[in-house]
Amino acid sequence: MNSGASARGGAAVRTACPYCGTGCGVLARPGSGGAGWSVAGDSGHPANSGRLCSKGNTLAETLGLEGRLLAPRVDGSKVAWDEALDVVAGRIRAVIDEHGPDAVAFYVSGQLLTEDYYAANKLMKGFIGSGNIDTNSRLCMASTVAGHRRAFGEDLVPGCYDDLESCDLAVLVGSNAAWCHPILFQRLNRARGERDARLVVIDPRRTASCDGADLHLALKPGSDVLLFNGLLADLARTGAINAEFIAAHTEGYAEALAQAMAEAPDIEAVAAGCELPAEQVARFYQWFGRTRRTVTLFSQGVNQSSQGTDKVNAILNVHLATGRVGRPGMGPFSLTGQPNAMGGREVGGLANQLAAHMDFSADTIDRVRRFWRAPAVAERPGLKAVDLFRAVGEGRIKALWIMGTNPAASLPEANGVTAALAACPFVVVSDCVEDTDTTAFAHVVLPALTWGEKDGTVTNSERRISRQRAFLPAPGVARPDWWIVAQVAARLGWGEAFGWASPAEIFREHAALSAFENEGERAFNLGPLARLGDDDYRDLDPVQWPVRADGQGTARLAADGRFPTPSGKARLVGVCAKPPARLADKAYPLILNTGRLRDQWHTMTRTGAVPRLASHTNEPFLAINPDDAAIDGVEDGAIARVESVSGGVALLRVRLTADQPRGSVFAPIHWNRSFAAAGGVGPLALAVTCPVSGQPELKHAPVRVAPWRPGWNGFLVSRRRLSPCADYWVRTAADHCWVYSLAGAALPTDLEGWAETLVGPADGRLEVHDARRAVHRWVRLAGNRLEAALYVAPGGPNVLTAPPPWLVERFALELIPDAERPWLLCERPASGVAAPAGRTVCACMNVSEAAIVEAVRNRGLASVDAIAKATRAGTNCGSCRAEIGDLLAQTRK
Ligand code: SF4
Repeated sequence: MNSGASARGGAAVRTACPYCGTGCGVLARPGSGGAGWSVAGDSGHPANSGRLCSKGNTLAETLGLEGRLLAPRVDGSKVAWDEALDVVAGRIRAVIDEHGPDAVAFYVSGQLLTEDYYAANKLMKGFIGSGNIDTNSRLCMASTVAGHRRAFGEDLVPGCYDDLESCDLAVLVGSNAAWCHPILFQRLNRARGERDARLVVIDPRRTASCDGADLHLALKPGSDVLLFNGLLADLARTGAINAEFIAAHTEGYAEALAQAMAEAPDIEAVAAGCELPAEQVARFYQWFGRTRRTVTLFSQGVNQSSQGTDKVNAILNVHLATGRVGRPGMGPFSLTGQPNAMGGREVGGLANQLAAHMDFSADTIDRVRRFWRAPAVAERPGLKAVDLFRAVGEGRIKALWIMGTNPAASLPEANGVTAALAACPFVVVSDCVEDTDTTAFAHVVLPALTWGEKDGTVTNSERRISRQRAFLPAPGVARPDWWIVAQVAARLGWGEAFGWASPAEIFREHAALSAFENEGERAFNLGPLARLGDDDYRDLDPVQWPVRADGQGTARLAADGRFPTPSGKARLVGVCAKPPARLADKAYPLILNTGRLRDQWHTMTRTGAVPRLASHTNEPFLAINPDDAAIDGVEDGAIARVESVSGGVALLRVRLTADQPRGSVFAPIHWNRSFAAAGGVGPLALAVTCPVSGQPELKHAPVRVAPWRPGWNGFLVSRRRLSPCADYWVRTAADHCWVYSLAGAALPTDLEGWAETLVGPADGRLEVHDARRAVHRWVRLAGNRLEAALYVAPGGPNVLTAPPPWLVERFALELIPDAERPWLLCERPASGVAAPAGRTVCACMNVSEAAIVEAVRNRGLASVDAIAKATRAGTNCGSCRAEIGDLLAQTRK
């Protein structure tokens, strides 16, 4: 097995998945997949033991170069690296000289490798001399970081993944792990089957994670603190606390309990405040009180809140009060969203952390200054993401460098962010993607390497550091992010401190800093790894920090009850339930919740190009309870106009579902201007933040919903990536082509000219126009191949919104026979028999809805397991099993 880089033509390369914080091990092998490589799960990696979810399974299909940024550009013109780097360094130097270091800012990403992150943080906080570097992890888990620091004294996750398999009760709070951390959810579920362990899901929405749960608490959005305060009070009332642990290892219990008692005197008060049946609350409290081996997993539903840090501490309080921390099968467990959110936290990528888990105290500033031999270490925290972009908009930030992220799409009140970027005097974007919502505003774009090409380390949710290894050559002149940062630093006059020749050198420096003057005060310590040789770094096996003197990792922290606080004790923090920042009212009566889908990742730059991932959900949608839909007059399958109290607007396809509680709607986060005209939720979310963590409230924005009735609908299938001129369009990947759903208020007056921009010139074009029905169809062939097909028609939502599958399949053919060509303008193929349309339910095994329905009907299958056996659907990561169950029920009905 080859663990090192550049194994082209050789054995498999061990690397790690670039998507979620589970951090699954991946084997890349020369094969028949994209770019001549195929991928599989690494059976030797402790996170996944060889399994991958639908996203990981399709990584090889994302290795193409379409849409890649392959050369530096300044003001839109291709330039050599030297010229681009000179411009970046020159402009940053000019801003520092004229306005001071705080007029410069970096906004970086949990997609960066630890070595890239380290370089960027060192440049900003050690040499430019400002704290103004923040990361998109601020949107993801900043509240957990703040909660950990308040309770444990340091940002540490005490447990490990094995605890999910050895607990007797798993409590899942604000997390649809079945879709967002599928491999972990399957580990948990398999073990539950063996140990008869219980699962409680706490989420306002009914999600796939509720499938098979013993209890689903569909609490009122934002009432988590009350629920956990009530639990603390109940544990005390029923004698389920661990008095010995509390006395020996904690502080603040009495105050936290008094706060909880005052707020949640009994179960009825909790049930009323959380809008839950009292019996459900009592059952949860009883199970929690009586089950020693309890793990509480939490994620964005907790973090992305104006009270996110208090929610985290409410959860940590009940684990501290019961002494269930850092022991097998028990503990609070934060599920991180991004592949290297943890690595960013470790180097100091958050504006309020200096480096290596050190804050901005006088001692640590001095320590870091001496270690880096830095001229101007930042002496105070910098601006957190939302405030940072506000400062850009107000003209206080004059030079902004964005690395590997797309804030114009993903930040709340995104319209304000785009206005700020447009007004910023100097914007640099280093990225692997050429056209994003953000690169549109860049004065300089710098081509960075991406997964498969870059080399370094990432840390997953259980503190496990894994190598991400390169197996592809760098395309064009793209370079690693750390190299780009180091080159700019050298041009600013700090070449000696950034003179690394490899990521191994950076990693050793990072490890050495973690151990520098660390006599056990800081749990984050990679000291022994500072001595790794280049070959050892190349071959580094996954290891959980802190790393012991013998080079071995540490599975659990705080098992002995000692915490990295000045007193050595953990702190229970008294927290008080507060309502979200903005409540629904008459004008904006519904609350918008946002989140991820099973088969997409972030702003879809990678997963959006994979047809079988696109086929599960091919349009941005608004999930709404049928009762709310009836009030607002929106219909299933039609388009709704969603307007937020922030002023942002989106056009989303309506999906009626009783899984969505009344009063609340849900929309996925993934679509942006590259994939849809108006499908992004960034403009709808509110830029209000948790006062402690600075994390924005991305799951609670008052909105109003109204029908949007287009004058026409249509679709386009094309080999080209386009941004059609239409009020509503969505682009979806299909085999050999892109499928566009189209709609608009009125057809363009120059219909022919408009069609020509989409379909191409008259040469090779066939068309038919039904003047009476106002139906228009164009297809164009280039040589013998089908190049594009455009159908438009007036009318409601169910007319011509999607192409028939047989038409899309024709794009895979090298030759369309003459006899078949006129049929391309019809609604059915020449044979007259059209296969039924069907989306993919199981993306791992590529099993369609139609295949599952057929199996249930024709073979009399009566269980999810029987369907799995017959079709292989749900036999890999299992994240589609809930959906298969729903299909089974519907079909049998
Ligand atoms: Fe990648 Fe899926 Fe594993 Fe997450 S669960 S790391 S997305 S394979």
